[in-house]
Amino acid sequence: MLFGGLFDEPKQQRARPSFNTKDKEFLYERQKGRCAGCREKLPMKVLQVDHVKAFSKGGSDKPSNLQLLCGPCNASKGSGTQAQFKKKLQSQSSAKSSTSAKAKKTNATVKKTATKKRTSKPKDPFADFFRI
Ligand SMILES: [Zn+2]
Repeated sequence: MLFGGLFDEPKQQRARPSFNTKDKEFLYERQKGRCAGCREKLPMKVLQVDHVKAFSKGGSDKPSNLQLLCGPCNASKGSGTQAQFKKKLQSQSSAKSSTSAKAKKTNATVKKTATKKRTSKPKDPFADFFRI
């Protein structure tokens, strides 16, 4: 009697999409931290889990049917299909493809210098410490 409510719950949860943080982390890794639409590199908390095939249209909750989109891309896809969304993206990216290529290059150089600084700085004090 007491547990009757507990057994009823899973049945209700099945009716709506379910994915956990692990799924999101997996997707984030798979997409290398980029939005599946505009390919912008973004923090995970900004990206939203989207069903490639809408859940309401029979799409599954498996990672193969999930992707991470930034807010604007998710809004742009809306309830449309993935094909419609890609068409939208293509018409957008063809207009600014030259600028995004430039941004990629500068991003890469900034990363290199950032990691160099990180590795060289903390090593020095420790090296002195062990010498003494
Ligand atoms: Zn995006």
